[in-house]
Amino acid sequence: MKIICIGRNYADHVQELANEKPDSPVIFLKPDSALLAKKQPFFIPPFTNEVHHELELVIKINRLGKFITQKFAHKYYDQIGLGLDLTARDLQNELKSKGLPWEKAKAFDGAAVVGHKWMDKQKFDLNNLNFQLNKNGQVVQQGNTSLMLWKIDELIAYVSTFFTLKIGDLIFTGTPAGVGKISEGDYLEAFLESEKLLDLKIR
Ligand code: ZN
Repeated sequence: MKIICIGRNYADHVQELANEKPDSPVIFLKPDSALLAKKQPFFIPPFTNEVHHELELVIKINRLGKFITQKFAHKYYDQIGLGLDLTARDLQNELKSKGLPWEKAKAFDGAAVVGHKWMDKQKFDLNNLNFQLNKNGQVVQQGNTSLMLWKIDELIAYVSTFFTLKIGDLIFTGTPAGVGKISEGDYLEAFLESEKLLDLKIR
């Protein structure tokens, strides 16, 4: 499986990192080795002093597809969940300033965290979905899918013009504002509406 991530999909987050608003979705990949094993804590790696949390709605692909049209994109997923696109921000800023690819900052082991629980998409209005990240009991990120620059079905159509989507692939749909540093000892919890789908200890 592969993990496809969308960058700069919420205007408020584009502003907080002083990025330019893109004309088309920003895409990057994480390898399957980036996926943090279930129920494991995240260990801050030695090559960074600034790992940021990015809470994102995650789509699980359930059919093989290429050149999927927006109209039929909804047939390619049933389940939604939450994930953390963990980012070595110090390293990413350095790479960005040199115009280099982001992989070292985004695709390292454990940099993709998905929740323990997935939800049936039918239960929700996908265009008005609240999600939230708490750090040590305090709210640090709040998002609503109505604020996405590109909606889920648009993302699936766009992404599939470049990459064949396979069963089990994950699409991280971008983070809203409020990204911030995590430190040893932190405890993260993520909620989709009122349902807790993810928790993570930082070591
Ligand atoms: Zn992200």
